[in-house]
Amino acid sequence: MEELSAHFIIIGSGPSGQKAAIQAAKLGKSVIVIEKEEYPGGASLHSGTIPSKSLREAILDLTDFYKRSFYGNEESKIDVSITDLNYRLKRVLDLQRHLILRQFARNKVLLLKGSASFTENKEIIVTNDLGEITHRLRGEKFLIATGSRPRNPGSIPFDNHRVLDSTRLLNIDKVPKTMTVLGGGVIGSEYASFFSALGTEVTVIDKRDHMLPLLDREIGLHFQDALTNIGLKFIGNKEVEKVLHKGDFVDILFKDGSTVSSEVLLYALGREANVDELQIKNANVSVNARGYIPVNALFQTSNPSIFAVGDVIGGPSLASTGMEQGRLAARNAFGVKTHHFPTFFPIGIYTIPEISSCGKTEEELKSLGFQYEVGRAYYYEIARNQIAGNDIGMFKILFHTDTLEILGIHILGRGATEVIHIGQVAMSFNAKMDYFIDQVFNYPTYAEGYRIAALNGFNKIKHKR
Ligand SMILES: Cc1cc2nc3c(=O)[nH]c(=O)nc-3n(C[C@H](O)[C@H](O)[C@H](O)COP(=O)(O)OP(=O)(O)OC[C@H]3O[C@@H](n4cnc5c(N)ncnc54)[C@H](O)[C@@H]3O)c2cc1C
Repeated sequence: MEELSAHFIIIGSGPSGQKAAIQAAKLGKSVIVIEKEEYPGGASLHSGTIPSKSLREAILDLTDFYKRSFYGNEESKIDVSITDLNYRLKRVLDLQRHLILRQFARNKVLLLKGSASFTENKEIIVTNDLGEITHRLRGEKFLIATGSRPRNPGSIPFDNHRVLDSTRLLNIDKVPKTMTVLGGGVIGSEYASFFSALGTEVTVIDKRDHMLPLLDREIGLHFQDALTNIGLKFIGNKEVEKVLHKGDFVDILFKDGSTVSSEVLLYALGREANVDELQIKNANVSVNARGYIPVNALFQTSNPSIFAVGDVIGGPSLASTGMEQGRLAARNAFGVKTHHFPTFFPIGIYTIPEISSCGKTEEELKSLGFQYEVGRAYYYEIARNQIAGNDIGMFKILFHTDTLEILGIHILGRGATEVIHIGQVAMSFNAKMDYFIDQVFNYPTYAEGYRIAALNGFNKIKHKR
């Protein structure tokens, strides 16, 4: 057993912990990161962001997805194996792991393998897989960045072949012919669209009436239409009663008495915070009713020396936001002047087609009583899209009718997660809607959609342009 001390002790090496570690090291602080898994990177690298996006890219490439939409189905045949899909994933994983280890080494961040928990003496102990204590750590400031895991209710008979969550799904050995996805949220919708593109017959089921209800409703419905076009089926207003293994199939029984059967079930109804192993009561850190750690604007927990960031503090539960929270928490922990977490930021949903938004939805503006107008541009109007394959998509920009302030941007379609940043920057610098009209855009580009949508919006408020 080794005794160590450091200025900053971080539990968890996901994106939130990593960025906090590097920021603290850059401030000249000694940093220890504890990670219980074999490799650093967290759920983001091993079961979340990176695997799902690598899988998406592999599916788009190997199925000639965009080529098929242009030249028709005859040109290429979908016959992709899990081995083909995993090939890309493994390469990306290796590169990312290498990058993290190199960055830690370069910044003299000490990475310890083991499970961390707080003791009553304001220490952290690290235990190995056998439960033996390997380290006792003393720190000036602490950061909990232990992330989250898929919710696995006891009533659902999970295994590694048929009844899966988003982590188990990554270990399947063949592409299923049929799949039911329970939950039309981000993770469910992403995987549903991936497997649809692969040729699996996918049915998404949700208790709400459409997929991705967190989005602007018009975008969500347009997205659902796009998925229906590639063969996906959505059934709304259904609540699960029971899930049963039945030979080579899974049966899902609903409260209204109906049943759906498929080769594989992806259960995508929520995640839960990783707090159980931490013994956080010993550290006087409180947890809310939903099991997440509440923090103030500085990312400080109920114990002022202990900070928490990322999925463990609850929504928005994104790698992108967790990274910035981690960086800010490290600065706050050591009293370095810094800005607060931005009030608006882009959300990227890597469904096929992808979606990205920034700012308010139309429903939010209505309920807040804003005087707003909508500018729309459909992808069929954009030359770049016609050249690339004429895919489905739209830009929707919400703006204030008097001040022309940009209130919300919602993009569905190819390139959305990249192009959104133009709108994000415009909003951050308080550019008004006319900015998109008065600037020259590269042509042909997807970004031209901003201009078309702005002109459409201006026509409605009868501005002279
Ligand atoms: C399928 C899927 C797709 C996603 N896609 C995106 C996306 O496209 N874009 C995006 O921004 N986000 C995406 N996310 C969300 C993103 O993965 C998470 O928000 C992100 O991983 C959270 O980072 P984190 O650092 O808070 O936690 P994690 O990445 O979960 O890392 C926490 C780490 O802490 C370790 N740990 C836990 N307890 C202990 C302990 N007691 N001792 C030591 N170590 C411990 C864990 O082993 C883990 O390595 C996706 C998530 C999923 C599931």
